[in-house]
This record gives sequence, C-alpha cells and structure tokens, in this order.
Amino acid sequence: MTHYLLNVGSIKCYVLSDGDEETPKSEIRGMFSEESPAMDAAVEAWTGSTTFSMNCLLIEADGERILIDVGMGKLDASHSPQLPTRLQELGVTLDQITMVVLTHGHGDHIGGVVTDEGQLVYPNARHLISRLDWEHWTGPAMRPISEKCLLPLKDHIEKIDPNTPLATGVRTIGALGHTPGQLGIVLESGGQKLIDMVDATHHPIQMAHPAWSPKFDFDPIQAAATRRALFAQAADEGCWLMAYHYAFPGIGTVTRVGEGFEFHPLA
Ligand SMILES: [Zn+2]
Repeated sequence: MTHYLLNVGSIKCYVLSDGDEETPKSEIRGMFSEESPAMDAAVEAWTGSTTFSMNCLLIEADGERILIDVGMGKLDASHSPQLPTRLQELGVTLDQITMVVLTHGHGDHIGGVVTDEGQLVYPNARHLISRLDWEHWTGPAMRPISEKCLLPLKDHIEKIDPNTPLATGVRTIGALGHTPGQLGIVLESGGQKLIDMVDATHHPIQMAHPAWSPKFDFDPIQAAATRRALFAQAADEGCWLMAYHYAFPGIGTVTRVGEGFEFHPLA
C-alpha cells in the first residue's frame, strides 16, 4: 500500500510512510531504560505489530496541501527517503505543498525539509514549527541536525503554539514532554475527529502502560501525562487516534481496559 486515505468529514487525510522497519522485541524493550520485570514480561507477551513506521500526514483542506512532518530525509545514510515518492504516486508535486508543519525538532521528523545543499524540498510552502522546539533546538541544545535542517529555514520559519488554526477544522494542540514543545494536530469535520499525537507515544504497548516513557522522551513525567490524556480523550470521545511510529498507517480507535487502554488499528 503506497498511501492510506482517511476522510475526516470533508478533510482528506493521506498517511504517507517515509519508511517502515521490523524491530525485534529486544529493540522494543530497549526503548525503556528502567530495570523492570513488568516491562520484560509485557514485551515478551506482546503479540501485536513490531513494525516501526514513519507516518507523515498530508492534509487537504481549504485548498491547502499541508504536510505534517517530512520524514528522515537523508540524515541517516542507511535510510532511503520515501515521502517524495509517495507524494509523486498521488500526483502531488513538491511545489504544490502549501504548508509544512514540523511538530518537533527530531531528525526523523525534520530531516526531509531541506536538500543536501540546504535548499527547501517544498519550495512554495509556508514552514511552521513549534515555538518552544525552535527555541530549544536552535538554542543551547543545537546539534548538527538542527544546523543542517533548521538554520536554513530561519528567515521565513513561522513559530507557532498549541491551538493555532491551520485550515478550517485543523489546528495544533500541545503534545508536550517528548520534546519541550511537541505539537499534535487535531482535525474535526462533519462530526468526525482525528487526533495525531505524533511522538507522544512510540509503540502500542504503551496503551496498557501509559506511564512508560521511552528514554528519548525529554521530560518523561510530562510525556506520560500527555500520553494518558490523549489516550483518554480518544477513548472517551470515540475518535480516531494517530501515532507517527505505530505500524502504517498508525491510525486506530482506543478503548479503556482497566487502568489502561487498548489500540484497535484501522488497517
Ligand atoms: Zn519520531
């Protein structure tokens, strides 16, 4: 499958994978650094998907073509970027993207925003990023990835906050903790709703254990609170939930089970 289309009311959402990877259970366990027999047992007993994906989202609303995150690009030499090909298959050229939203400053979300020469991959798009993440990753936490991917954008990037409208029925939300300012996206139209919580969760094993924060969460306590709140919202409202790294397309529904939750993938 080259893309997954979900209509949220009148908003078209195409999930486009920048890549999928089968991960052994040892790597899933390795996301969590705590010594914990409960984690050992939960991972051992896991029978669901062990695929890690990079699920970018193309939203068509109000005549805009909005990309939510742009994949790894060529930051990792072992990765061949797939997002531009997926767009091409849809008949969308790179210069037709009108808006690029970078939810946070990690390489697997921003790597595809510039070419090796520092040129914009999506030349006609407005580029938006979480204000807190921009300040974090271009400030004291500056890394080579930020220099390569973020600094070329500095003259025209728009820094945004939670609750910023992107199009009719499309807005940002705070999904804080994974990074200082990670943004999620909410889409609402025609009585339907999708919450893209991006990296507020990394694997559906966290559904039953929302308190488990992987070692790459910047603030594990805040990340766990965000995760639990978004799982609960999806379960209680009966809406769709999307996660960037869940197996493609990373969209499903959520139910409450005991103190935790369960994920029911759409595909
Ligand atoms: Zn990520």
